[in-house]
Amino acid sequence: APWRATVLTLFPEMFPGPLGVSLAGRALSAGLWSLEARDIRASATDKHRSVDGTPAGGGPGMVLRADVLAASIDAAGIAPERPRLLMSPRGRPLTQAMVRNLADGPGPLIVCGRFEGIDQRVIDARELVEVSIGDYVLSGGEIAALVLIDACVRLLPGVMGKLESGTDESFSDDLLEYPQYTRPQLFEGRTIPDVLTSGDHAKVAAWRRAQAEALTEARRPDLWAERRARQDGEQKGPG
Ligand code: SAM
Repeated sequence: APWRATVLTLFPEMFPGPLGVSLAGRALSAGLWSLEARDIRASATDKHRSVDGTPAGGGPGMVLRADVLAASIDAAGIAPERPRLLMSPRGRPLTQAMVRNLADGPGPLIVCGRFEGIDQRVIDARELVEVSIGDYVLSGGEIAALVLIDACVRLLPGVMGKLESGTDESFSDDLLEYPQYTRPQLFEGRTIPDVLTSGDHAKVAAWRRAQAEALTEARRPDLWAERRARQDGEQKGPG
């Protein structure tokens, strides 16, 4: 079965949204992956179809109800091997390694939060894994879910052509990507670095690696330190 994303949201009309066009959209039409957006409100039970309540203990905003969301998760009938994620600013930061892992599996269930957040008891009872797309606060989990799905879909078999293969890009080896150039040779007085037009593949590779390392060290000291620590570990060997 192709990779599948099941999204639980109060705004199913936000899907596939931008994932319906370009690379992901073509792959969706071609059946290389599938997307199901389910309306959490369909699992509301009271006559007002309410999905939220005021926070216990007081405070601003509203909280998504545990009973409604649990019913929505249960109604989705998710196979036990599929990851169950909750988009959340306090979650584990999404990384390319997590994306690769998710892309290699059957595809996740993704719960999109709204309001001030969701009742903790459903996170615990349905063992939702909280995932954040960065240290800022969005108004809802839908855009975060679109980000996560987009990152996974482009790695699925057959989605990217050989030419755009994802092996040589930022994060694939803990380095930011080297600068890219294309024609024209001269742009507003700036030329393409000579080495790239030299035809010497070894020199090109060495130049790109040096650029990637310099960029990573300058822009992402956190990634650079991790990489150095790992390289030190590899040199010392196990034990
Ligand atoms: N009160 C919450 C807090 O401070 O953590 C913020 C809730 S936010 C307004 C509403 C929903 O947007 C969240 O439940 C989550 O699903 C989603 N969201 C917001 N920022 C996010 C982020 N950085 N990563 C993933 N999801 C996010």
